[in-house]
Amino acid sequence: MIAIKPHHFVDIVTEFGDGGTEFQPHPYGHAVHSVVKEILGNRDVVLRIELGADDICAPCRHNINGLCDDTIDTSFRLQAPSPNENGICSSTGAGLNGLASGKTTN
Ligand code: SF4
Repeated sequence: MIAIKPHHFVDIVTEFGDGGTEFQPHPYGHAVHSVVKEILGNRDVVLRIELGADDICAPCRHNINGLCDDTIDTSFRLQAPSPNENGICSSTGAGLNGLASGKTTN
């Protein structure tokens, strides 16, 4: 089972849809590359919706005790929500998709 935020799943599908097949380790240290490998290696893997830190966040340098400290740069987009991209994207994505934390799918 993979714990995954809705916006991380959308990121993966978007990249894959754009022809991305080579997911490399990211400077943040997060685990998107290994989670993608796990999903592609087992198309029946169960995904558990997570609104907090997920399996991608686990090794990320921005994961501070389960909270993301990566913020949206509002210097060029003053109306952007702030300060936490992580929580806003996840809760908005979940709300739009009728998802709830802890639900599973595959
Ligand atoms: S901790 Fe923040 S920056 Fe790191 S993977 Fe999670 S959401 Fe992305």
